[in-house]
Amino acid sequence: MSLAHIIKSFTLWELVKGHALTLKYFFKPKVTINYPYERAPLSPRFRGEHALRRYPNGEERCIACKLCEAVCPAQAITIEAEPRDDGSRRTTRYDIDMTKCIYCGFCQEACPVDAIVEGPNLEFSTETREELIYDKAKLLDNGDRWEGAIAANLAADAAYR
Ligand code: SF4
Ligand code: SF4
Repeated sequence: MSLAHIIKSFTLWELVKGHALTLKYFFKPKVTINYPYERAPLSPRFRGEHALRRYPNGEERCIACKLCEAVCPAQAITIEAEPRDDGSRRTTRYDIDMTKCIYCGFCQEACPVDAIVEGPNLEFSTETREELIYDKAKLLDNGDRWEGAIAANLAADAAYR
């Protein structure tokens, strides 16, 4: 064993180095945030909880083309549709099994009318699996609640789509 090694062992050199490093970072700006009181910024492309959007006049955007259902790799989307009296085609059932969803965003990318989107909401944990079976009413409600943020995110990302 070398003399330098013996001196380092007796002076607890590694411990001193560790404390010095701790002290160095003690006075630096903190990188942790106090969630949920503080939040990190989210990208406009963040893929959170799903929502079905409406047009400004309140009409549903979804035209029941079923492209989202076909493209979904997890087969999480179930759609049933019928023509309305006015001849327009709309869904009578739009379910997403959020326990199957892998948040790939394919449904949003496939949609020709920006109806189904993954919004910015990340706080939708539940106590039961049943609560994660979203129906059309729940998805439209999400759309109504998050429309401002969703529209802003889509606008921010429009140049890259
Ligand atoms: S995000 Fe992907 S897995 Fe989830 S519903 Fe859409 S297509 Fe399916
Ligand atoms: S959400 Fe979009 S892709 Fe899915 S059925 Fe409706 S219009 Fe078609």
